[in-house]
Amino acid sequence: MTNPGTSTKILSLAILADLLAVFLPLAFLSPLLPEPVAASSVSRSPNSQLSSPATNSGSSAASVGTLGETCNNSEALEEKLTSFVNGWLQATNWFGKPETGIDMLIQNFGSQLINNLNSTPWPDINGRARLARVPVIMYHDILPKKQVFFDVTPEELEQHLRLIQANGVTPISLDQLVTHLRTGLPLPSKPILLTFDDGYGGHYDYAYPLLKKYGYPAIFSIYTSNVGKNTGRTHVTWQQLQQMVADPLVTIASHSVTHPLDLRPLSNNQLIIEVMVSKQILEAQLGIPIRYFTYPSGKYDQRVTNLIREAGYQAALTMNNLDERNAGQSKSLLAIDRIGQAKLEQALAQAWGGPKLSSWNHVYFTQINQESPKASSREVSCQPHPTY
Ligand SMILES: [Zn+2]
Repeated sequence: MTNPGTSTKILSLAILADLLAVFLPLAFLSPLLPEPVAASSVSRSPNSQLSSPATNSGSSAASVGTLGETCNNSEALEEKLTSFVNGWLQATNWFGKPETGIDMLIQNFGSQLINNLNSTPWPDINGRARLARVPVIMYHDILPKKQVFFDVTPEELEQHLRLIQANGVTPISLDQLVTHLRTGLPLPSKPILLTFDDGYGGHYDYAYPLLKKYGYPAIFSIYTSNVGKNTGRTHVTWQQLQQMVADPLVTIASHSVTHPLDLRPLSNNQLIIEVMVSKQILEAQLGIPIRYFTYPSGKYDQRVTNLIREAGYQAALTMNNLDERNAGQSKSLLAIDRIGQAKLEQALAQAWGGPKLSSWNHVYFTQINQESPKASSREVSCQPHPTY
């Protein structure tokens, strides 16, 4: 499954054709789309959404007709976009190349998506993404003989991956999650993100081979001072990390230099080393940009997040054993919440990728119908979508 081969090339061409078919028209159609698609449906006041179509048309009857057609067109377009994006992400996951899909979307169509899907200003979380339930699961060491209760054996990890598969849940990358949190763009119907902290040797020996076997992406958070060392537990070497980052399934995050228990009491100079120098070391050793940070013990404050911004990280992961929440309920992209692996089963049972794009439109037209009785004929062309 991880070898792309000829079939992937054929698939890629087919997907590329679909991609162009969907996004090129979108570029020309975007000025014609109703406001929630072309502009804000979250921050704008209800009045500004409701008044503009009637004001522009000059009569109620004309307004209904124009909106009915726009509704049908935009709804069909959004249905196509939703189905395409989900299909694209699923297909790239199947072929072990999730980053190919999301990278291509972001690099080639990022600005178009941002314009049309109304990205929320960084680092806030989009209102639609707050409706979804995406668990970010946190693992520590994977080793045959447990030393502490939160260690996981390779057999247990494989059971977890089988459970994920059996429940129809799709592991996603952190890039996919961050795009979703910024735009509200729907994820696969049941998404999950797997994270492994502290760069243990067991991550290379057991976790990585299992992730490859199942074609599942994951993020590994590394603190640089223990790379290659044996501290009673083995840690990954730079060579092993170089091998892992060449695989699109793997994302590396900085987890500081020395893994202090708490970043908050550190001096400014020490904090700069943990947050900024760790990024520089990883980038120099691995030859890739490091865009994510994981707070040691999940602890941070305003001074820490200010430095995370200044260092150029795009998002940061946290944890709080007493208040474990899905990603959409996080404070911001600078503190994405996680859930301990012991709660995987509950997390799987409730995972949901969020409302489809078409249901955003339903909310919009329901608002119009409530505002104007004459607009009720639009219900025929703007049927409510199933609730989730
Ligand atoms: Zn840690």
